[in-house]
Amino acid sequence: MPETHETIIVGAGLSGLSVAHFLSSREPEREILILEQEERPGGAVKSFREQGYLAEWGPHGFLDNNPASRALLAETGLEKIAQKAPLGSFVRYVCHQGRLVQLPQQPQALLASPLLSPLGKLRLLGDLFVRPVAAEQSLAQWAAHRFGPQVLPLVDAAATGTFAGDYERLSMDAVMPGVRRLEKEAGSVLRGLFAKRKNKGEKAGILPAMTSFPQGMEQLVTTLAARAQVRYRTPVAAIRRQEGFWTIDTGAGSYRSKLLVLALPINGSLRLLAGHRPPLPSIPTATIATVALGFGREARVPFGFGYLAPEREQRFALGALFSTHMFPGRAPNDCVLLEALVGGRRHPERLELSDEELVGRICDDLGQLLHLPKPPSFARVLRSGNGIPQLEKGHLALLAWKERLEASEPGLFLCGFGWEGIGMNDMMKGASAVAEKILSGAGGREQAEVKPVYF
Ligand SMILES: Cc1cc2nc3c(=O)[nH]c(=O)nc-3n(C[C@H](O)[C@H](O)[C@H](O)COP(=O)(O)OP(=O)(O)OC[C@H]3O[C@@H](n4cnc5c(N)ncnc54)[C@H](O)[C@@H]3O)c2cc1C
Repeated sequence: MPETHETIIVGAGLSGLSVAHFLSSREPEREILILEQEERPGGAVKSFREQGYLAEWGPHGFLDNNPASRALLAETGLEKIAQKAPLGSFVRYVCHQGRLVQLPQQPQALLASPLLSPLGKLRLLGDLFVRPVAAEQSLAQWAAHRFGPQVLPLVDAAATGTFAGDYERLSMDAVMPGVRRLEKEAGSVLRGLFAKRKNKGEKAGILPAMTSFPQGMEQLVTTLAARAQVRYRTPVAAIRRQEGFWTIDTGAGSYRSKLLVLALPINGSLRLLAGHRPPLPSIPTATIATVALGFGREARVPFGFGYLAPEREQRFALGALFSTHMFPGRAPNDCVLLEALVGGRRHPERLELSDEELVGRICDDLGQLLHLPKPPSFARVLRSGNGIPQLEKGHLALLAWKERLEASEPGLFLCGFGWEGIGMNDMMKGASAVAEKILSGAGGREQAEVKPVYF
């Protein structure tokens, strides 16, 4: 007989652990089992410690402006120890014509930035006059249409910093559905933003903070996992619905449950749901490596979060984080930690280089932009095995299919890396929405039973 549980979640990454947290914080008596294929929780969230350095294989932080993540941090007590780097006091840089130029923190600051010519600045206002295009567009097409071609390197840098992606392939409609809605409703992004601010009485200029923890990002997932019932080394191979239950087959026996949450990266869920004919069997992913470099006090790194390099600059690194500026405790006394990112959607071939070659190429590249002694006093290459899902053109069809599937399959819920977004805030928001649906009975309700009629 399969082992029966009230609620089963597949995947103990941030998404699955967050669903478990939101469910059990609202209903402590609810019985929840998480099935995880690895022997550790956290999926893509993984911190690295060596010789007094603290770096990340995966995410480096998330902004504290999302209600779901704020609730999660408050409810777990993590809020009290969170390390915050406010966007208001930190700056970011973009590589522009071979040197680092400060990136405007707010769109209106673009007007004073040397990144655009006077004509380019004037063209930003073209947004007030051009009509929204109804069809799905790439991020690059959309930005050029609304704000003119001079903003493209900045949009490219933003897509590189979030997706390690190619802005000519990412779908604007899938990546920023909120902005797209605003644009369509108001006829212009700027007009939509002004109206939103006026309606909500929002003040301009309040910026969120980048958040991490003293033990690195992993502290978030280990805290959540310590409060959950997780069965490790249990890869789920197949799921099927049978006699009102979901049966979940793993290498180590079967489980069953009325409520099943697939909290997996999108391609993992698509594999398990192949029999339900998704419009695409999988979506592309972008893989990156982090090259962590430590330097003594002779290194001179401008104050800020780090920099990003648009493709047209033809740099080797996608960018680098100035980690010791962002959060305390990332390097031994007086040392500096930089974390450079390499690879991504456009340059997977760079990840085929050996660790030694990667460190050499990164040091050459960063050495042209920053004053760094050679060689670094510490160097490690952290190769994340987790690809970043790319929400490219055609993604909307997948989302529509997911919605239909959840509506037609009682007790099945989907969330995770690459459905409605890819950031940690997207994961916690998606997990909170799934928990709400389960708790309210919406979507998880059994279809009305068809009773036989006897005469
Ligand atoms: C290199 C990198 C850098 C990133 N940087 C940032 C950043 O700076 N800021 C930010 O906000 N976000 C960042 N992200 C995104 C962030 O890491 C993700 O949003 C988040 O970790 C996704 O969580 P998840 O639980 O949905 O997926 P995952 O982390 O992939 O977790 C899924 C879990 O499911 C398990 N699993 C998979 N298949 C099965 C199966 N068949 N059976 C059982 N278990 C299974 C996996 O082992 C894993 O533990 C980054 C991601 C990467 C890869």
